[in-house]
Amino acid sequence: MKNLDLVKSSILINDEKLERLNDKNEKFKLGIVGGTFDPIHNAHLAMVEFVRTKFNLDFVLFIPSGTPPHKMSISTDKHDRYNMVLLATASNEYFAVSDYEVKAEKRSYTVDTLKDMKKIYSLSDIYFITGADAICTIEEWKDARGILESATFIATTRPGIGLLRAQETIEKLNKKYNANIISVYVPSLDISSTYIRDQLLDGKSVKYLIPSCVEEYIYQNCIYKNETKKHEQLRKL
Ligand code: NAP
Repeated sequence: MKNLDLVKSSILINDEKLERLNDKNEKFKLGIVGGTFDPIHNAHLAMVEFVRTKFNLDFVLFIPSGTPPHKMSISTDKHDRYNMVLLATASNEYFAVSDYEVKAEKRSYTVDTLKDMKKIYSLSDIYFITGADAICTIEEWKDARGILESATFIATTRPGIGLLRAQETIEKLNKKYNANIISVYVPSLDISSTYIRDQLLDGKSVKYLIPSCVEEYIYQNCIYKNETKKHEQLRKL
């Protein structure tokens, strides 16, 4: 199947899952996964699945950042980052993707996203899942107190991320804001988006590190190519 067809069928699958989520009529546990996903990789997916089962979450909504407040420029188009998450999550019935931040015209702040998600999914208890390194900077985010009051936070760590330092910061934040941040060590693959981008820019293989549909999407759309190689590839198409 051509990648465009795959994106279209993933949109339909995602719409069905979102409808199911909208129809929930009793209290439920909703995981919200925030990140740039530049690109999404197998460690993200394994981490979120690990958290979903560990905390008995009923559903997990991935919300890729559109224009993140703290990053002045991300060269990968937000729609490509969104499409890659769409493709990567299609096969998991408990995962769906929201275009909430991607379609926003202004920068998205987590405090606003969480407030709106609580309004939309009023019966949910929200668990915000992201990397521990991101959560450790939360005091620099807009309205840290408001954010920490609005959800339980799951800060995931993986090999290579300073677990002890993150743990100290999290304990400090929990005390200071009476927050509920839980740090979870996820013993999954030691890969990062930065590593994937570097491999791709060097023309090296990322097979088995990202879902094959995402890999295909990256090649077909010439993402993460250095400009010279990109032009060479486009000339060949
Ligand atoms: P990021 O760059 O995507 O990720 C920061 C770190 O966490 C990276 O090491 C990343 O690894 C890891 N990570 C990302 N998503 C993850 C996930 N789902 N599970 C485990 N690890 C993950 O994240 P970010 O852009 O800093 O922001 C994360 C979230 O915080 C977003 O939702 C963002 O909107 C929010 N945020 C809000 C504000 C604000 O409201 N002012 C400010 C900063 C961040 P990889 O490189 O492998 O992805």
